[in-house]
Amino acid sequence: MIADDALFHQAFRDSPIGMALVDEVGHLLEINAAFATILGVPVDQLVGRHFAEFTHPDDLKRDIELRQKIAEGSLAFYQVQKRYVRPSGEVVWVRATVSDVGRHRESQPTLYAVQIEDITEIRRTKELLEHRALYDQLTGLANRTLLLDRISHALERHALRAATVACVFVDIDHLKVVNDSLGHEAGDTYLAQIAARIEDSVRPIDTVARFGGDEFVILLEGVADQDAALRLATRIIERVEAPLSFAGHELAPTLSAGLALAEPGIGAEGLVRNADTAMYAAKQAGRARLEVFSPRMRAAASNKLSVEAELRTAIRNGELVVHYQPVVELATRRIVAFEALVRWQHPQRGLLLPDEFISIGEEANLMVPLGALVLHEACAFAAARPLFAGRVFVNVSTRQIGTADLARAVEEALETHGVAAQRLVLEITESGILMASQAAHADLKAIAAQGVELVLDDFGTGYSSLSSVLQNPVSGIKLARAFTLRLGDGSTGDRISIAMASLTKSLDMYGVIEGVETEAQYLRARSHGWTHGQGFYFGHPAPAEQISIDTDGTIHMSAAAPNTASSR
Ligand code: C2E
Ligand code: MG
Ligand code: MG
Repeated sequence: MIADDALFHQAFRDSPIGMALVDEVGHLLEINAAFATILGVPVDQLVGRHFAEFTHPDDLKRDIELRQKIAEGSLAFYQVQKRYVRPSGEVVWVRATVSDVGRHRESQPTLYAVQIEDITEIRRTKELLEHRALYDQLTGLANRTLLLDRISHALERHALRAATVACVFVDIDHLKVVNDSLGHEAGDTYLAQIAARIEDSVRPIDTVARFGGDEFVILLEGVADQDAALRLATRIIERVEAPLSFAGHELAPTLSAGLALAEPGIGAEGLVRNADTAMYAAKQAGRARLEVFSPRMRAAASNKLSVEAELRTAIRNGELVVHYQPVVELATRRIVAFEALVRWQHPQRGLLLPDEFISIGEEANLMVPLGALVLHEACAFAAARPLFAGRVFVNVSTRQIGTADLARAVEEALETHGVAAQRLVLEITESGILMASQAAHADLKAIAAQGVELVLDDFGTGYSSLSSVLQNPVSGIKLARAFTLRLGDGSTGDRISIAMASLTKSLDMYGVIEGVETEAQYLRARSHGWTHGQGFYFGHPAPAEQISIDTDGTIHMSAAAPNTASSR
């Protein structure tokens, strides 16, 4: 049965799909409400208007061609995605189906039916997904996928040319300090600013990508040789390393970077890997530098992986040992404490100092088990020397604080060995104490509430401001050895030492001056007002077996060959 006209009209009018009848020239004859809504123009204002008035200029030509084909009879209908422009200027994407509905009357020309659906949202999501798949959300830079694709193309393009392709792998030094001290949001902003600086300092043909957390890769195309690539890379690094005023702090960002040039037969992944290996060498060499890839670096990188695996088992197999270095009261030179310092008794390589494995432990997430081991050893050391009235200082890594629940680990070690909390002191680095995270704050508070004191280690080498130090339950500071080395210069070195000593005193904290090696340094430190000291002048770190206490409390350290690197 054929629906009557009224019914048909109602269906047309109320359809949720935009519908219009258009004459052969393109004028809108009849329009339903959905169509008008999509175009953003009331129905009555649309009648008689030409569809071209609303069509996006870039889509018009194709529309006209296709309608022509329908008019010629070579197409029965067509469906396209096209854009309309609303009077407000807003662009809407629609899926439009245009078909020939024949003639109304024999004498009249052909009419067209147009059906449209708003697909703006679908398109936007699709574009977003496509963008997400290729770009980093935080920095807007290319991501790993897009980078590797670009490198592959660049390598193909340059295969037959004299010029070559180079990659610079860049890692922001100490981003963790920014994250830990100013919070992750600030860390993200910092990262985005550095990203913008890199992007601003490359040539238009180069690609900058965010490769991972704080890692960027720059693809340099059409470089003549290694020197040319080095010049470009150096220029980029110099610009990025300009001082940055950030969240009320003056920061001096530094980068560790590795440069690798394409070699015959290399693929995108291989080139990036070489640049990464060179970057790792730069980090090993002390950060804030640029290294050029060479094949022998590969051996070093694979060494790192094996050290990581070895360290994991070393912790389990009891290869880590703890040595103890005396902390003395300067006035009397009496030992008042020992600092626990971890060592690795490596089956092949001998006794390794922390410099050789702590950073690997940090990267490989091994600081929690390593730290727990040292805590237990230190408590056992104290428990085994009931006649020793002093305390044991234990270094803790930032990674042990907060979610890792250091308070719990400390409590457990103390309980296991029956040691009073007052006999333990934890040494925390500036970045550790500055952590903005709630969890870290709460953890430190809980530790202090147990009666365990906290001291700030290597003071003066980080970024802490005095006020942030004071917000934490810190009862002492240890002045970094770098300052001790400058004692007696009759200038800044001495002035800093004096100022720090008096500051410590006025804050009602105790101060330990580290790395005292000579009598001259000892005397000067005393005259500057330091109350406590530590250093080879008073005693080297020694294994627990070499430290014994007489019944009258006298401490004996049997003189064995010092195992401390003198180069520190
Ligand atoms: P630190 O906590 O500042 O420890 C002092 C370092 O200076 C020790 O090096 C010590 O042997 C060395 N030292 C002491 N007196 C002198 C001196 O007069 N001259 C010179 N040149 N050096 C001196 P070590 O044992 O190699 O430890 C290096 C760093 O490794 C420590 O610095 C500490 O930050 C870290 N570390 C050591 N043990 C642990 C641990 O159990 N856990 C964690 N997280 N870090 C640890
Ligand atoms: Mg220490
Ligand atoms: Mg120290």
